[in-house]
Amino acid sequence: MFKLTDLPYGASELEPVISAETIALHHGKHLATYVNNLNNLLPGSGMEGLTLEEIVTKATGGIFNNAGQILNHNLYFEQLQAPSDDNRPIGKIAQAIEEQFGSVDAFKEKFTAAAVTLFGSGWAWLASDSDGTLHILQLPNADNPVTQGLKPLMTMDVWEHAYYVDYRNRRPDHIAAMWSILNWKVIDSRYNG
Ligand code: MN
Repeated sequence: MFKLTDLPYGASELEPVISAETIALHHGKHLATYVNNLNNLLPGSGMEGLTLEEIVTKATGGIFNNAGQILNHNLYFEQLQAPSDDNRPIGKIAQAIEEQFGSVDAFKEKFTAAAVTLFGSGWAWLASDSDGTLHILQLPNADNPVTQGLKPLMTMDVWEHAYYVDYRNRRPDHIAAMWSILNWKVIDSRYNG
């Protein structure tokens, strides 16, 4: 049985970038529903006891959709922290970003374009391959970089439920604000892990 993960911060700590109301809906309702759905679908599927990553690389249909969304949201919520204006990448991930994209600003521009132009519901990802090379991906719906053999490092959720309460249709404004609440310690440890 999978459980709804606890947030590593209080529901209002991400304000004003993400409101407590959005956290209550996004974590407390949307993610909780994916967890309940998956727990209802798994018995008899032959996938009981597998990790979310294992399920996502094997499953199709409803099991894939719900397991993928749990994995995606766990990665998303875990990599956030209270806003700070001078928030920047740190450690080896900072070095890799500078080497591969030229600068942090060039990386942010490229990632922002991926997040803003993703058609419909999905996720923009920073992922790494086995060489440590970084990749920016636009993946639809519940997909995750693990389905391509890549390690997910950082993600932004562009399903409307992630931003509609706070930003209405202004997805670019939401993405621009997200840079101030990324926890680069967590993202760097994923890169090094
Ligand atoms: Mn979401």
